[in-house]
Amino acid sequence: MTEARPTVVIGAGHNGLVAAAYLARAGRRVVVVEAAGHVGGAAVTREFAPHFRVSAVAHLTHLLDPVIVRELALERHGLAFARESLRTVALNPDGEAVVLDQRAVVAGPVAEPDRAAYAEFMVRMRRFAAVLGRQHRRVPPRLAWERWTDALPAAAVGLDLRRLGREELREFLRIVTMAIYDVADEAFESPILKGAVSLDAVLGTRLGARSGNSVFTYLHRLSGAAWGLGGPSLPRGGVGSVTDALAAASRLAGAEIRLASPVEAVLVRSGRAAGVRLAGGEVIEAAAVLSSADPHTTLLGLVGARHLEAEFAQRIHHLRATGTAAKLHLALRAPPAFRGVAAEHAGERLLISPSATYADEAFNPAKYRQWSEHPVLEITVPTMHDATLAPPGQHVLSAVVQYAPYDIAGGWDAARAPFEARLLALLEQYAPGIGGQVIAAQLLTPADIARDYRIAGGHWHHAELAIDQALMLRPVPGAARYATPIDGLYLCGAGSHPGGGLIGAAGRNAARVALGEEP
Ligand SMILES: Cc1cc2nc3c(=O)[nH]c(=O)nc-3n(C[C@H](O)[C@H](O)[C@H](O)COP(=O)(O)OP(=O)(O)OC[C@H]3O[C@@H](n4cnc5c(N)ncnc54)[C@H](O)[C@@H]3O)c2cc1C
Repeated sequence: MTEARPTVVIGAGHNGLVAAAYLARAGRRVVVVEAAGHVGGAAVTREFAPHFRVSAVAHLTHLLDPVIVRELALERHGLAFARESLRTVALNPDGEAVVLDQRAVVAGPVAEPDRAAYAEFMVRMRRFAAVLGRQHRRVPPRLAWERWTDALPAAAVGLDLRRLGREELREFLRIVTMAIYDVADEAFESPILKGAVSLDAVLGTRLGARSGNSVFTYLHRLSGAAWGLGGPSLPRGGVGSVTDALAAASRLAGAEIRLASPVEAVLVRSGRAAGVRLAGGEVIEAAAVLSSADPHTTLLGLVGARHLEAEFAQRIHHLRATGTAAKLHLALRAPPAFRGVAAEHAGERLLISPSATYADEAFNPAKYRQWSEHPVLEITVPTMHDATLAPPGQHVLSAVVQYAPYDIAGGWDAARAPFEARLLALLEQYAPGIGGQVIAAQLLTPADIARDYRIAGGHWHHAELAIDQALMLRPVPGAARYATPIDGLYLCGAGSHPGGGLIGAAGRNAARVALGEEP
């Protein structure tokens, strides 16, 4: 039986669409209201120059939950991969690059002891990361237990940790709050190995390689190990094909998706979410509301502090959510030639992070609201595998660039041109001649991402992913199990457990909670 009043989902990013699909499959009447004129949120493919398309914000999938892919039959709805499990090419300013996968050093100037150490390191890190990954599909444990069954989720986490064995558990506990700089330094001699591992730890965060907690974020990045995932992948047609497939699955399940429908307010009556009011005044009365907008936007913007207890509102207010990741897109008339990279590796994931010290020093200016003169970059050239994105023979380069703080001193209007020029000069150093191949360039700063994609602070994870903002503390105590203090209002986006990146687990878990499938 369908309800008279729909369940409203705010936002048609991947998490909102996942939530909508599961709710609709369970028989709820679902209306998704999305502010943008298209689905996808920060997982979209966009034309950034005539005939050149790119994954506009997120550009690789490395944690997409295979259960969601299977249960929602995303492949039947058009999801395909141009290339799975890309290798990592750590660019070397002084010569041959180092090629890695998540198990071994594949090629490059790395001495034998470091090759063995890297293989051993990755076995251990993937084992630790799998413990985190096994939590992704679970609603985080309650902090207060009223019934004995409330203890079960915490017991499951404890059991996962115990399964590591005594020695490995001790090592896990020793390193999980450490800085990646120190852990990499213990493991290897090679600066370039340390630099590559460091970049994976800090990408998308407001951390440097010497920041505590960066091992935790490194493990989060590898947490697809729990599901046997082995590395980042390139969806054919860009990441927009993931969200297009999710939209198709949601619609097939019966969800209605309304585009260009910004929500202005979540209506609260007698402490309960009663519906939403759209810009323009239309009211949709709802049985329940799930929001994939970030926690700050949802709770302080759409609900309003007056409906929240002061302490809870303060916690949301103090959430750390200042983005530091920018995005650079280049339309190129020829394939870029990176120095020291063999032709067979030119289409892999390329990193500029030649040492852990470099990755840490790159962060320093961001602390003081400046952009980095020597930024770290994660570069893909998707057109090496996917001809759908550019005219024949021409290419697209897509790079995540750190550090470019959202709250840049003096504003991004003044900082944009010098930062973009600096990025092109840096790329020229690694790929001589690339400047002459550029047909068009686009830089998306975190401020652009905040405005265009409606993410407060433009942050990758909607709220910093850190141990004090993770699991039963994410985004804050009182809203960590997707339900909020407002009855019938749930969070379902990256700001909730298990955090950002294209995973889909927040949407799926939140739907289960809203359906009453979780005690
Ligand atoms: C520079 C950068 C690079 C990244 N690269 C990667 C990557 O390579 N791989 C990866 O896995 N992750 C990456 N990420 C992270 C990833 O993009 C996000 O974590 C993820 O897209 C969040 O998905 P979501 O569905 O939770 O939220 P979003 O995608 O942010 O979707 C929320 C939706 O809600 C809508 N909305 C907001 N407010 C309202 C309102 N008032 N009314 C109606 N609708 C509203 C928005 O328009 C949006 O569509 C990157 C992030 C950044 C910033």
